[in-house]
Amino acid sequence: MKNVMPVADGSPVGAVRGTPVVPGVAYGPAIRPGPRPELPAVHASIPDTARAAEAERFTAAARAVAERLRARAAHASGAAAEVLLANAGLAEDRGWIGAATGRIRSGSDAVGAAIATTEQFATMFTQLGGLMAERVTDLRDIRDRVVAELSGHPEPGLELPDEPSVLLAEDLAPADTAGLDPTRIIGLATTLGGPTSHTAIIARQLGIPCVVAAAGLDAIPAGTAVLLDGSTGEIRTAPDPEAARAAVAADRQERARAAAWTGPGATADGHRVAILANVQDGPGARAARRTPAEGVGLFRTELCFLDRELEPSVADQADIYAEVLTAYAGRKVVVRTLDAGSDKPLRFVTHPEEHNPALGVRGIRIGSTAPGIVERQLDAVAEAAARTGQSPWVMAPMIATVAEAAAFAALVRARDLVPGVMVEVPAAALLADRLLEHVDFLSIGTNDLGQYTMAADRMSPQLATLTDPWQPAVLALVARTAEAGQAAGKPVGVCGEAAADPLLACVLAGLGVTSLSCAAAAVAAVGARLATVTLDLCREAAGAAVAAADPAAARAAVTRALG
Ligand code: PEP
Ligand code: MG
Repeated sequence: MKNVMPVADGSPVGAVRGTPVVPGVAYGPAIRPGPRPELPAVHASIPDTARAAEAERFTAAARAVAERLRARAAHASGAAAEVLLANAGLAEDRGWIGAATGRIRSGSDAVGAAIATTEQFATMFTQLGGLMAERVTDLRDIRDRVVAELSGHPEPGLELPDEPSVLLAEDLAPADTAGLDPTRIIGLATTLGGPTSHTAIIARQLGIPCVVAAAGLDAIPAGTAVLLDGSTGEIRTAPDPEAARAAVAADRQERARAAAWTGPGATADGHRVAILANVQDGPGARAARRTPAEGVGLFRTELCFLDRELEPSVADQADIYAEVLTAYAGRKVVVRTLDAGSDKPLRFVTHPEEHNPALGVRGIRIGSTAPGIVERQLDAVAEAAARTGQSPWVMAPMIATVAEAAAFAALVRARDLVPGVMVEVPAAALLADRLLEHVDFLSIGTNDLGQYTMAADRMSPQLATLTDPWQPAVLALVARTAEAGQAAGKPVGVCGEAAADPLLACVLAGLGVTSLSCAAAAVAAVGARLATVTLDLCREAAGAAVAAADPAAARAAVTRALG
């Protein structure tokens, strides 16, 4: 266990709080990842005659790192495999390798070139913001692996502890998170990261209780006994061992109840709330099918095409969409049109230079820079629908005006599909009743609704409290949207991360939403929790949450109300 520092004398007793992202309770000794490799400050200058060989040495090291990541991806699945493959792609990125070998041809050694080029790209990614800024951690991880390869050192990373432990880190390299063994790493907390960071997504897939954006974590030494609660976000140090074990036992019972839950989604008194899965491709849909999810509430189509240089043809798109429709034959599937831009830029969509891409040309707005792209995608969905005999619902992201909703609905209806729009912009929540004059359903994206309501970047760890979906202002907008749905007699679902939180799911049901769509790994816990409470209790909890002063007070009030 060479990663673990010695146990501190007199472990501090206290608590650190972060943003809870994967529910569950873990109790065990804290461990920390081993140090990253030392990056030399002084670099050798390479003589003219040796530069070609040095450039080749760099390229070979990057290739070796990519191959190892790909080999690990072959043994992983779902989000973990995707992250490893994406990182292998980063190690072989032509721009990165080209810039580094360019430096070598100007005399830099390979290690110096790896370091300088990474910083150059990190600055660029940070300026782009959103998902690109998140890739800085990936890039630095690749740099460390390439530097280790060039220096003949073992590949950096996390060593597994012998005893089940709670991993505390500033941030985790995605390649490390993807390789976590949930029997040995029973809890996870990071100082950085947000609710939608790679760490959170993979922890959710692996079912490891997880807290992110936990300021003050650095003060907890390795070896300290910690009790991590992935529902409240609390990481308690040196807790009373008996109370900690009781909390773990209660959590285990809760998980057993979740494992036994088979659906369909309903409160204890039989009020139906469909529990659906968020998917991003055919394999994801087939995996979700193994859970009690009743259908797909959000198919994020843009995630199928992040690596494409050219817009996929209609036939090509239809093949992919048909895979998801086939996995959920005879069930509800909600396809979202491309949400390109901001944190999810697509290479085949021209994104203008923007100072603030989150407020720029993204979602439905890409039709203005890529004429016909929405229509072609709808043609593909219609073709997939015809091929599979399914009638998918189709919704547009980032709708801000009634006119946008009306225009989109006309395009969808012209293809005999069922139109809806996402409510991610406060303007859409405020005018939900008028949107519903044009579309058949609404789906609330609480990730972006939180970002735009609170004017806080959803990727920023510093602002994680503001982007917490328990923010009463966000819940008030959910309430308003759900009321509009009830008045119009049309369904209003939630498909943001809020729906993956079992406690918050009860609040959303109480606010009047008709379906909850979340990561497949969260489906059973959400359904099982909802089945323990009556609709009246959910309504009472919802009232308390909206009336609370802040997310922590809202959680506390709802915990009291629901027991
Ligand atoms: C959301 O914003 O809540 C949502 C579901 O969309 P995405 O997370 O893909 O932006
Ligand atoms: Mg969104």
